[in-house]
Amino acid sequence: MKISRRVLCLSLILSVLIMPFFPTSVKAETLRDYENLLKKYEREQANIKDQIGENNQLTKEAEQEIENIKKELTNMSQEIEQMHIDIVDYNNEIREKTLQTKELFEYLQMTRSENVMLEYAFGAETITDLIYRIAVVKQITEDNEKKINELKDMIEYNKKREVELEDKEKQMEKRQKDLTEKITKLTKKNASLNDNSVSTEQQITTYRDQIKAYKEAGCTSNMEIGVDCFNNNSVAGWYRPTQSGYVTSEFGYRWGSLHRAVDVSNSNPYKTKIYPVATGIITSKFTDYYGALTIIIEHKTANGKYYSSLYTHLSSYSSNAVVGRKVTPNDFLGYMGATGYVTGPHLHMEIAPCRAMNHADKNCGTWNKYTAYVKKIYDSGKFKGPRELIYFPKPYVRYNTR
Ligand SMILES: [Zn+2]
Repeated sequence: MKISRRVLCLSLILSVLIMPFFPTSVKAETLRDYENLLKKYEREQANIKDQIGENNQLTKEAEQEIENIKKELTNMSQEIEQMHIDIVDYNNEIREKTLQTKELFEYLQMTRSENVMLEYAFGAETITDLIYRIAVVKQITEDNEKKINELKDMIEYNKKREVELEDKEKQMEKRQKDLTEKITKLTKKNASLNDNSVSTEQQITTYRDQIKAYKEAGCTSNMEIGVDCFNNNSVAGWYRPTQSGYVTSEFGYRWGSLHRAVDVSNSNPYKTKIYPVATGIITSKFTDYYGALTIIIEHKTANGKYYSSLYTHLSSYSSNAVVGRKVTPNDFLGYMGATGYVTGPHLHMEIAPCRAMNHADKNCGTWNKYTAYVKKIYDSGKFKGPRELIYFPKPYVRYNTR
């Protein structure tokens, strides 16, 4: 009893100590786990769709507002134009009035100094006439002063309006700039929600296909996939993916981004059959964002290490291309082609030391995780691509065997 407890204790301590040294990237998952994950993704996808719809609505509203602002700016610039013309007219008017007034004042000044005003006033023959004549002189002066003040007010008012309009114009321009920025942001946001060579929707389709395959293989809710059911056969050897061909592009950085594959072409590309590079199970089959027909196969080595191989730009699939299908290097997958984002027909073939787009792999469980992981291990020098497992001659040197 005492010993067995000690052993238990020791094994517990040991397991805690040793645990970090074992790879934790691969965990056993039950069918239920996969189904729950699928549900989670479906919910996320619904949210993304909602958000995109919302963003599109906001973009539309912002665009409409910009249109309105543009119209308003056009109207305002016309108004400002008219104001400028008016002000010039008023200025001419006031200049004229000033001149007239000046002349009158000069006349009055002159007459005053030479007593002409008095002469005029006292030239009156009656006292009533005198009062009248004084009033006339006064009235003329006052009228002119009034007119000048009116014109001054008009000019002030116009200047004020011009300033106001310019302020408003500045505000509108700022608002237009803000709205343009808002639209750009919304567009970018939508792009980031969509922007993936493999969309969330394709990811969901893949998970659905996988669950269907697990069920067809006899897996039930509590069974661990790949353990209790759906076992992958061990890799017996690695082969080139075509009977003949030549490498056209290597694994590595190309124009700033990582090319995760070895590209292979052939003299008769559309008649070139694509085969699995090793024994494994087809785990994904999808058309990527750019339209490339794609297959992913999962491989397990004799010592339990997982790899995945990806084949894309296929022109067509063979009848073997079914998710869940166990394949050997002799099972034809489809023909080389030019589907998706390509300049010419070729096979883009990726190999990575993880289970691409398989939820059980915490490093590569989704497309985004997969691509980030491959970049990470390449950047840190841990994995150098398909050539680590398969020999290919130098680029453009033909091979004629698998
Ligand atoms: Zn490629």
